[in-house]
Amino acid sequence: MTEPLQLAQRVTSLKPSATVEMTERVRAARATGRKIYGLSSGDPNVATDPRIIDAAERAMRGGDTHYGPVAGSPELRAAIVAREAKLSGAAYDPGDIIVTPGGKFALLTSLMALVEPGDEVLVPAPGWVSYNPCVRMCGGVPVPLPMLDRIDGETLQRAISPRTKAIILNSPVNPSGRVLSREELQLVADLADKHGFWVIFDQVYADLTHVGAFPYMQSLDGACERTIVVDSMSKTFGMTGWRLGYLALPPGTSKSVIKFIQHSIYCVPGFVQAAGVEALALYDEIVPPLRRMFRRRQEHAVAQLNAIDGVSCSLPDATFYLFPSVAASDTEVARHWLETVDVAVLPGSSFGPAGAGHLRLSVTMADADLDEALARIARAGLPR
Ligand code: PLP
Repeated sequence: MTEPLQLAQRVTSLKPSATVEMTERVRAARATGRKIYGLSSGDPNVATDPRIIDAAERAMRGGDTHYGPVAGSPELRAAIVAREAKLSGAAYDPGDIIVTPGGKFALLTSLMALVEPGDEVLVPAPGWVSYNPCVRMCGGVPVPLPMLDRIDGETLQRAISPRTKAIILNSPVNPSGRVLSREELQLVADLADKHGFWVIFDQVYADLTHVGAFPYMQSLDGACERTIVVDSMSKTFGMTGWRLGYLALPPGTSKSVIKFIQHSIYCVPGFVQAAGVEALALYDEIVPPLRRMFRRRQEHAVAQLNAIDGVSCSLPDATFYLFPSVAASDTEVARHWLETVDVAVLPGSSFGPAGAGHLRLSVTMADADLDEALARIARAGLPR
């Protein structure tokens, strides 16, 4: 008898995404008629602007339904170059830009391009749920680097080994909403230079910075040479489902990286990219009100949360997340709120052990629902 067929370890060994699983659970509960207040989703209740939808429709009706340029349309890449010049100040050539189906695939592409089997990649702890799995899928070994409050130079030095190939930095941070300081970025840049490793800079929430100027890794002197920027239209423009993001690469590297795109997705649909061009053109109209809305919700929720016994929440400088600490097991609190008052939040430990003792809340739902969810949480309190 032959052995039962086996799937590759690459997929069997992966842990499911805690955020996607919670979203599925909420969706399934809603399908049974139960109303769940979802404070767990990174998908804002923001409809795509009709002008962006029109741009996609025009492109489709105009015949942009074929394979297109592998690296992305010249129009979108030019718009991304202009965006980077304006926001980060980095001067990219359109040839350094690769358009991807979302930030997640941009991240995977960057790791596919860098990581050899056994290479170590420093990952933020706590950090976004997909970093470790993406590193592993590329044959690498994720090495957690604590950075809840700050990146400590000595801790970073200790985490670096001869096998360190790259560090993933995410600013503003999912789950905490923290913005990495210029000093922290400089520390990483200096050590990356000294020890010869790459920096992957995930800036998908940079447009949602509420306080001060946002420090971009690629704007530090000389950092462009070793920094791969991951960005996305998802969070900034209410376009999570469009799957549109990009990589901004060090000069000369895109020629090789592009082969991974050629042999995997080929290209992002042209009409999705046309929508992206329109979105970037509407930046000044769309983004500031969106930012204000999230800020107002964050401020409101922080005040409500701090009134609950055992919950302590500071106001982060960016994003639509909150990361309160709780005087109880984070998984127990999340379960308690879901089971007793139908409110879904994510335990901080979903973002690695460094997130334990916290919860991640997203203020991505309508104001009235957010109010109701917060009232329910206040009523439920922490489990005894
Ligand atoms: N990076 C971080 C830190 C995220 O939180 C997300 C989405 O939640 C992404 C990247 C990817 O977003 P998308 O693939 O929708 O562009």
